[in-house]
Amino acid sequence: MKKTGLIGFPLGHSISPAMHNAAFKIFGIDAEYLLYEVRSGELGDLVSDLRGKESLGFNVTIPYKETIIKYVDEVTTFAKLIGAVNTVVNREGVLVGHNTDGPGFIQSLKEEGGIDPGDKIAVVLGAGGAGRAVAVMLAESGTSKVILADVDFNKAKDLSDYINFELERNCQAILPDDLHEHIKKASILVNATPIGMHPNTDNSPLPRGIKLHSDLLVYDLVYNPRETTLLKEAKKAGAKTVSGLGMLVRQGALAFSVFTDEEPPVGIMWEAAEKALSAR
Ligand code: NAP
Repeated sequence: MKKTGLIGFPLGHSISPAMHNAAFKIFGIDAEYLLYEVRSGELGDLVSDLRGKESLGFNVTIPYKETIIKYVDEVTTFAKLIGAVNTVVNREGVLVGHNTDGPGFIQSLKEEGGIDPGDKIAVVLGAGGAGRAVAVMLAESGTSKVILADVDFNKAKDLSDYINFELERNCQAILPDDLHEHIKKASILVNATPIGMHPNTDNSPLPRGIKLHSDLLVYDLVYNPRETTLLKEAKKAGAKTVSGLGMLVRQGALAFSVFTDEEPPVGIMWEAAEKALSAR
């Protein structure tokens, strides 16, 4: 039997095994998806084990998406641009690092949100790991401008400097106090902070008094709950809303096709993810 899995710490209630095992089953692939909850000192030995013949590769989550880069042999262009790897494929002992979070987000934005980011202004809240993948991919997808706001201005500034000077795209770091005037002109607003996530579901990442508008697509990376306080506020303003479950499923589906070279069964993986989430 082949194996793959998720490396991270802690892994608690990951729904990745449910998604991937459902996909293996539908294709009749003799493989299983495991959880590798390891401390950083154990990472090197685990990765060596996962170069073996029976290993398809593995996914990587917090806190190892950057650290893993030094353990793999090659890194794809997107993963290099984003500076993080969440999927590693084992090609006969050669480990190749991919990033499917960024492309998964863009796919979900287009499919669930029905919007192409080209020539649009996008506001991204949060410049952590997820905010970086989202902002870089939006910039690379032809947005006219990415506006970045983080409670730590320096974090937003560092990321916007990277996008402006290394990628030569248009990005501006702002203070959360200035969000209102930028959201007025934007077509896309993305929450890439954990604010609103279970159990603190009454919280919103937006400062009080900020008005949303009906020409906005609001994408919340938080997927538990499916409808966050931010998405409720957005719906009230007449904006279109998308939950982060779409990104989660699509990054998993892209990883499945990296592991197996098969077209991913997105609907099956989506169903399995929803079922696993509601059983939590
Ligand atoms: P992170 O590394 O903690 O980054 C979040 C950033 O947002 C931090 O810099 C944080 O600052 C900042 N922040 C907090 N509150 C803010 C606010 N109100 N306005 C602006 N910035 C604020 O977290 P992450 O790993 O990037 O993940 C962010 C969220 O995305 C999590 O909920 C995660 O579960 C979700 N996610 C979803 C998917 C998916 O597939 N749907 C994929 C990846 C991540 P401080 O550190 O100072 O608080």
